[in-house]
Amino acid sequence: MAEQLRGKPVVQAMKEELMQRVEALKAKGITPKLGIVRVGARPDDLYYEGGAKKTCDSIGLAYEVFEYPEDVGQAEFEQAVKEIGAKQDIHGILMFSPLPKSLDEKKIRALIPVEKDVDSLTLGSAGKVFADDETGFPPCTPTACMEILKHYKIPLEGKRVTVVGRSLVVGKPVAMLLMRENATVTICHSRTKDLPAVCKEADIVVAAIGRAKMINADYVKPGQIVIDVGINPDPDRPGKYCGDVDFDSVEPIVEKITPVPGGVGSVTTIVLCKHTIMACEMLNNLA
Ligand code: NAP
Repeated sequence: MAEQLRGKPVVQAMKEELMQRVEALKAKGITPKLGIVRVGARPDDLYYEGGAKKTCDSIGLAYEVFEYPEDVGQAEFEQAVKEIGAKQDIHGILMFSPLPKSLDEKKIRALIPVEKDVDSLTLGSAGKVFADDETGFPPCTPTACMEILKHYKIPLEGKRVTVVGRSLVVGKPVAMLLMRENATVTICHSRTKDLPAVCKEADIVVAAIGRAKMINADYVKPGQIVIDVGINPDPDRPGKYCGDVDFDSVEPIVEKITPVPGGVGSVTTIVLCKHTIMACEMLNNLA
């Protein structure tokens, strides 16, 4: 039976540390603040926004929601994003994506100042992540994976890690962050040959695929650590969701595994807060 790497203790420990950093900033007369930019009212966005606000409240981080109708015009929205980016009291910006098709998302993303880009929406942030420049924020999910590995003291140096998925949101940045910690990383994707064998070679498997329960007993071996990033509708339990890993078949084999729900996904909003606090510290030359 594998040890479950639950997100809750990670979040608790992070909250304690971040509350102190917020207090230290407030003592200097600075209140770190997250700006949440939302176009329309998609249920997924509202759900994430609700979680983010709750986490901000729990550590004393301020936030402001900037809400626009689905039919907002390109010029009007560009102007709004520029103004939000220029606000002195906003240190981090979360903009929900994808934007409606009527908007040029690439152009709008580029308007977010890199130093406030706490969820890595700009190519500037991606470039910094790839250049190991720690002033650039990775997307929250890859950082959440790293926070879990750090909290549970899982050694990475010299370890072989197989990352399944090469998106700019998860696969590629998590591979960069793992390499920063001196892991030997293999990135796999839909054209990888004999994926089960490549996964079996690893000490750690990170699944970021978007295919419910794809990583099953054929992909793993005893002693491995499995980080499941996936969030998918559960084909076997309507209304519930599951990971990219078939937990029931993999958990009895491996040494440690993140559950879904309650694993990586549960750590992302506290990472958003951490990035906002870091941005605030850097913008005030306190980092
Ligand atoms: P994505 O952009 O769709 O990328 C999926 C990646 O998986 C692609 O690189 C794709 O390969 C690869 N892939 C697809 N089918 C494959 C197969 N049969 N064998 C090997 N590789 C395969 O997805 P994403 O945004 O990275 O998200 C991945 C998962 O993480 C999803 O379940 C998503 O819901 C979840 N997610 C979770 C969080 C969180 O907070 N926990 C946040 C973001 C995403 P190609 O490049 O060759 O197409």
